[in-house]
Amino acid sequence: MAVRSSRQQGHMLRHLRIIFLLLLLAAVILGQWQARSLVTSWETPLWVLLYPINGDGSDVATNDLNTFDDLRFSALESFFRREAGRYGIDLDEPVVVRVGPVPDAPPPLPPTDGGPLAIAWWSLKLRYWAFTLDDGDGPPADVRIAVRYFDPAGNPRLPHSLGLAEVRVGIVNAYADAEYRGSNRVVIAHELLHALGASDKYDPTSNLPRHPDGYAEPDRQPRYPQQKAELMGGRIPLAPGEARIAGSLDEVIVGPLSAREIGWSD
Ligand SMILES: [Zn+2]
Repeated sequence: MAVRSSRQQGHMLRHLRIIFLLLLLAAVILGQWQARSLVTSWETPLWVLLYPINGDGSDVATNDLNTFDDLRFSALESFFRREAGRYGIDLDEPVVVRVGPVPDAPPPLPPTDGGPLAIAWWSLKLRYWAFTLDDGDGPPADVRIAVRYFDPAGNPRLPHSLGLAEVRVGIVNAYADAEYRGSNRVVIAHELLHALGASDKYDPTSNLPRHPDGYAEPDRQPRYPQQKAELMGGRIPLAPGEARIAGSLDEVIVGPLSAREIGWSD
């Protein structure tokens, strides 16, 4: 009898777990649909919150985080005003960027060699992390981006940054150095566009922008050197097989395909 009831309990627990997971899935799907339909209308400003994080525990990152304020990111807002305006988005501030409070915990990082299940599990954890964030005084954020700062001296290469449309969350790895502020903002803008549904427009093996969509001026004659980067192409093509990182958002535009992907044009 005792055996039987514990087996029944096991069944019930399993059922409860399945019901819980189904409810979670339903909530996730519903939340996604709502976020999507709210964000891509471009009828009201998009609220982006940046969450500063010390990526390597270094003093250099701590010192840089202490000077982290909204002003440092006003160039992001003017970039989006300029680019959205070119596509006829009639808003004074299409994108508002604010600095959120330092999170209690860093974001969960993607599995390095996991299968689809590990990635799905990580994406759930990331969703939960975003859910626990404090949005500060403003309205609830449309997109949340963790910016992890690293000392350039100890980290010659940074892990890949990422932006997920399904979660509307980005994780940006940045250098804690005044010299890198311009290029850090380019990476933030790139991952923000991913979070809004834009795709990469470069070849992942060579990191070279793809022609024509990853080029700022695909019809330019001669084609090289290009003067600017397409935001999702990532780099400025200088010659066949050669491209450089943009130093600031002044050297970057949003091309027609990326604009269409985020709802700036039909
Ligand atoms: Zn990308």
